[in-house]
Amino acid sequence: MPKVYNWQIGREMDYWYPETRPERQAAAVFDTNKCIACQTCTMACKTTWTSGKGQEYMFWNNVETKPWGSYPLMWDARILEMLGPQKWVKEDGGYVYRGKTIFEAAKPGERVLGYLPEDLDYAYPNRGEDETNEILRREKFYLKLPHDLWFFYLPRICNHCTYPACLAACPRMSIYKRREDGVVLVDQVRCRGYRECVMACPYKKVFYNHVSRIAEKCVFCYPAIEKGLWPRCMRTCIGKIRMFGFINKPEDADPENPIDFLVHVKKVALPLLPQLGLEPNVYYIPPTHVSDIKFLQMMFGPEAPQAVETYNKAMGGGDLELIAVLHLCVSTDRIITRFKLRGDKEVLGFNEKGDEVVRVPLKEPTIVRPFFDEKLKVYRHNSP
Ligand code: SF4
Ligand code: SF4
Repeated sequence: MPKVYNWQIGREMDYWYPETRPERQAAAVFDTNKCIACQTCTMACKTTWTSGKGQEYMFWNNVETKPWGSYPLMWDARILEMLGPQKWVKEDGGYVYRGKTIFEAAKPGERVLGYLPEDLDYAYPNRGEDETNEILRREKFYLKLPHDLWFFYLPRICNHCTYPACLAACPRMSIYKRREDGVVLVDQVRCRGYRECVMACPYKKVFYNHVSRIAEKCVFCYPAIEKGLWPRCMRTCIGKIRMFGFINKPEDADPENPIDFLVHVKKVALPLLPQLGLEPNVYYIPPTHVSDIKFLQMMFGPEAPQAVETYNKAMGGGDLELIAVLHLCVSTDRIITRFKLRGDKEVLGFNEKGDEVVRVPLKEPTIVRPFFDEKLKVYRHNSP
């Protein structure tokens, strides 16, 4: 197999095809601290793309409660267990993954380590919702600080991976990565429904349509991206946890590009299960309240504690620039490729053409209304 470089694991790895990167890579950042599991994103996607026959069980976007929630059933635990020991080592100031990726752990004659979920694995999309990491026993019904009962919401879509397992596994070469934005798509004419992609994707984000008998998956709402707009799940997000943009490789990182800034400069947004080796392009700001750091490191890589620290520092007022970008990115549904801070007053976002598309104050003005309105000669109060 050819060797390709995966910056998320800090080393070269085996992949079925040689390294080819798109002209630009579409990417997203999700702030898990703000997700309320309202499932508006899930329904926005469902009503847009998967309301047809054979798509009833499909959730291209789903939101699960960690640690117990999973869709399909135990997708993460199963692949991590199959993969075996996952070891990160600090070398030359950075972390290198010294375990095997799912490409390197593939069985003889197979391209990727994977498994095919059974029908029942898709039967309970809300399994584990709002369940904590421990069983709530009577003696636990009091507030203990720091509290060790936790859960968090993990919204998931296809990661439009740099090294997609679905693409590598397809014997018909029906899955392709668009040159212009890195969006991973299934060619609906070429596909014969072998389900190799379903078996290979460790995130289980390709689905088999039992009526049309072909594979279907998230398209990152590419018609919207082509118009400079965000995908549906991101535009409708109630918690404003989602940001969309384009990401560069670390060595080409542009500190004025909001996604590069969050991922490469501040390192506050991390990939999901980077040890699998796909270089996924959806990044997560890890939850700050989870006391089990090892769990966070398993999910988001060894740098999760530093990301939490950086985020907490910003929220405490210690990093105006980071706060500015987090505010800016959720204040528009237009793709921002560059931001600029104007002192401590406001932050501006620009599109690819260089036009200003959004301007956000860093401090909202406080207006105090006088108790007595001199003009109308009335008191303002809330009681009748
Ligand atoms: S998340 Fe799965 S379906 Fe999406 S690109 Fe990666 S391997 Fe393919
Ligand atoms: S719409 Fe936003 S806040 Fe609601 S569940 Fe989806 S990601 Fe979370």
